[in-house]
Amino acid sequence: MNISESKRLFNEAQNFIPGGVNSPVRAFKAVGGNPLFIKKANGAYLYDEDGNQYIELINSWGPMILGHNHPMIREAVIKAMEEGTSFGAPTAKEVEIAELIVSMVPSVEKVRMVNSGTEATMSAIRVARGYTGRDKFIKMEGHYHGHGDSFLIAAGSGAMTMGDPDSPGVTKGTAKDTLLAPYNNLEAIEKLVEANRGEIAALILEPVPGNMGLCLPNEGYLQGLRDICTREGIVLIFDEVMTGFRLAKGGAQELFGVTPDMTTLGKIIGGGMPVGAYGGKKEIMEFVSPSGPVYQAGTLSGNPIAMAAGLTMLNHLNSHPEVYTRLNEIGQKLTDGIGKVNQELGLDYTINLLGSMYSLFFTNEEIHDFETAKKANTGMFGKYFQAMLHRGVYLAPSQFESLFLSTALTDELIETIVTAHKSSIQEIHKN
Ligand code: PMP
Repeated sequence: MNISESKRLFNEAQNFIPGGVNSPVRAFKAVGGNPLFIKKANGAYLYDEDGNQYIELINSWGPMILGHNHPMIREAVIKAMEEGTSFGAPTAKEVEIAELIVSMVPSVEKVRMVNSGTEATMSAIRVARGYTGRDKFIKMEGHYHGHGDSFLIAAGSGAMTMGDPDSPGVTKGTAKDTLLAPYNNLEAIEKLVEANRGEIAALILEPVPGNMGLCLPNEGYLQGLRDICTREGIVLIFDEVMTGFRLAKGGAQELFGVTPDMTTLGKIIGGGMPVGAYGGKKEIMEFVSPSGPVYQAGTLSGNPIAMAAGLTMLNHLNSHPEVYTRLNEIGQKLTDGIGKVNQELGLDYTINLLGSMYSLFFTNEEIHDFETAKKANTGMFGKYFQAMLHRGVYLAPSQFESLFLSTALTDELIETIVTAHKSSIQEIHKN
C-alpha cells in the first residue's frame, strides 16, 4: 500500500500542528504507523491522499449514520450556502430543529444548540449547578464527555488511549467537585450520595458508554440511577452525543425506557457539521440565559448551514424507522460473522454490540466497566488494526472506542469485512 503522500503530509503537519493532528486519536499513536490523510469520502468508503480506498467503520466518529456525502444532506447544505453562511441572529431553521428534537428525544422539552459535544456537556453541568445551587457532580470512570476541565478526570476515549485520563492543566479546585464512580455499580453511587448528601448537582453518564470501547448497562442499572437521582434531587444527565439518534430515534433513553432530566447531543444532530445541543425539562432549561441567570452563548450557535444539514438528517431519521431496523441488522450480521470466524479459530474474544455500535475486545473477559475494559490487550489490537487497514478496512485507531456502522454497508460489504477479519486475525496469531 502506497501512503507516501500521507507520510509527507504528516511530516509537514508536525511542524505546525501539535502532534500533526487537530484531535489526538487521529495520530494513530496507539496503533502505530502513519495516519492516513483523507481526501474524500463517499457512501461506505474513505479515500486517502494517495488514492487508496477503505471501507469505513467509524463514520466520522458517529455522525455519518447514512454513509458519507449523502446526496440529501449535500444538497441541503448547498442550498443553505446560497443564502449566506452565518447571520448571528435567529433563523426559522433553528425553530424547526428545536421542535423536531423535542418531538424525538423523550427528556427534551426545551433545547439549546451549540457547536460541539464538549460545549453541550460543559453547559449542561453549569445549568444543573445553577438549578440546584450545588457544586459537585458524579461522573463515571472511563466515560468521555468532551474536553471540558471538570470531565478530564478518569476520562475515556483519546484521554484513555493516550494514557492521560487525568489531564494536567485541570486545577485541584476543579477536580475536587468531580466525584468518580464505576459504571454499572449502583452501590457505589449510593455510597457517594450518602457521603455528599445535598451537595451533588448532577450525575452525568453515557447511558451506553462507547468511549472505553462499547459497554452495555446491566439490567435495571439506568432505572436504578433514575430512582436515586429523583430521591436525592440530583439532575440526571444522559450524555447521548454518541447514542442519540443512533440506538433509536430517541436515543438510549427511548430504547431503555428511562428518561433523564437533561440530555446532551452531538454528532448525528449536525449531519456531519459541527453541532451539539443540550436540553431537558422546561423548568431546568428555563435557567438558561436569557430566560434565566445561567450564562451560555455562541457566535456561531445555530449556524444556518449546520442547521440545514442537521435538520435534513433528523427529518429523515424521524420519518424512516426502517433505518434503525437495517442498522440493527447490519450490526448483528457483521458481529455474527466476526464471532463465527473467531470461534472457528478457537478465539473467544469479547464482542459488545448494541444496534449499530460494537467493539471487539482482545480479551475473553466480560467487559462492563473501566477496570474490565483495561484488561483488553492493546498491543494485539494495534496489530489487528494494521492488518485490517492493509486489507482496506478502516477501524477506529484505538481499542477504547466503539465502531459506528452506517446504512451504506451492504451485505456484500459485510462479507468483505468478515473475510478481511479472518485473514487479519489469522495473521496476527501466527507467531
Ligand atoms: N460526549 C460523548 C459521549 C462523546 O463521545 C464525545 C465525543 N466523542 C463528546 C461528548 C464530545 O463531543 P465533541 O468531540 O463534539 O466535543
